[in-house]
Amino acid sequence: MSERRSITPTHRYRNNDKLIGIGNTFWNMSEEHGVAGIVGDLTDGVFHMADGHEFVNFTVCSYLDLDTHPKVIDGAVAALRRFGVLDHCIPRTRVQTPVLLELEESLGELFGATVISAISTAAASTGLLPLIASGHLGNGTRPLMVFDKNAHVSMANAKPSCADETEVVTCRHHDLDHLEDLCRTYERVCYVVDGSDSLGGYAPVNELAELQERYNLLVFYDDSHSLSAYGERGIGYVRSHSPVLDERTITVATLSKGFGAGGTAILLDGYPKQTRRLIERFAGPLGYSQKMNAAAVGAALASAEIHRTDELIQLQERLRSNIALFDSLLATEQSGSTYPIRLVPMTDETVVGAAQRVFAAGFYVSPVFFPIVSRGTAGLRAMLRAGQTEEQIRRLCSVLIEAGARPATALPEPVAR
Ligand SMILES: *Cc1c(COP(=O)(O)O)cnc(C)c1O
Repeated sequence: MSERRSITPTHRYRNNDKLIGIGNTFWNMSEEHGVAGIVGDLTDGVFHMADGHEFVNFTVCSYLDLDTHPKVIDGAVAALRRFGVLDHCIPRTRVQTPVLLELEESLGELFGATVISAISTAAASTGLLPLIASGHLGNGTRPLMVFDKNAHVSMANAKPSCADETEVVTCRHHDLDHLEDLCRTYERVCYVVDGSDSLGGYAPVNELAELQERYNLLVFYDDSHSLSAYGERGIGYVRSHSPVLDERTITVATLSKGFGAGGTAILLDGYPKQTRRLIERFAGPLGYSQKMNAAAVGAALASAEIHRTDELIQLQERLRSNIALFDSLLATEQSGSTYPIRLVPMTDETVVGAAQRVFAAGFYVSPVFFPIVSRGTAGLRAMLRAGQTEEQIRRLCSVLIEAGARPATALPEPVAR
């Protein structure tokens, strides 16, 4: 018998050997030290574990605490009863109840855009990016797909399928000069980037708008981290700052973080009506997989109602003042930013011990360390939320300082005018 062939992978866009090799070491270490794999019941903002330990979770992305808001919970239950079906399993392009149409109309009005929903941002990006790559979503010209190096994994995962439709490159984080060179060279370019980064910071929307004006650049933003937490009616960073809100800007934003519901919103401007059908039929999972279910829609409708009231403004203000309080106590690189995520610097050697110590004191902050991040960038990730109390934040910060975090240096006195 002839020898059977083994396969040598190309690994042009992904590499599971590397991913799992690195990732599993990290996760195993975290779990062995009790700072991952945690199970507890959540009551009134406090987690209760079976062994009696209680803690406040400081690593949750529900920045306005809308995920536990009584109106959002009631909305989920009411919608399930009203529509009488959780998920009618058939592509919506064939038969649908009005559940998604009602949501999309409400979100469209709220955000001033054409909204198409999907079960998750990951599903939306998986479906939309190859349609953009082939020129079908856009102006008909196949663009060079330029992925920012830090683009969230849900977007980066679409590289192989985009590469089958067009050319794909990865550029350094926010490298606008390189992007402009590519715009000069290629008929059309699409830049794929986070509107608000998981590690803090925002996309350079104004500089990108200039490239959009000059070269007809298409920008695909994932603004998941700033929806609800940022902007009037919680419209997010991109839509409150980008001067280009037309067919050259496509935004996806999860409804499961600040918005407190589940699912995602695809936000479009200036596209013709048929675009909705194209997306519903051909954007990958949107055409064949689950849609947002009635409970998630009900939660989102209730959250949208809150977004229309002064309560949203109050929640955003409380989030901002919690961020300011944290920054007045602890020094981080993100200090002073309106962004709700802070990375409290530690070393690879100290970070797990620090996380354990903080957890024992009643707070969860997630450690990130080598090999999941490069050496020298280890730290504890803390997210601020509107619902955290002043006492919780003060106690967390003093525990963090005992565990080795750097206190904020005294702020300079404000200059009298
Ligand atoms: C959290 C997050 C996602 C995942 O959102 P889902 O709706 O759960 O798929 C996608 N992109 C970014 C930038 C995120 O921060």
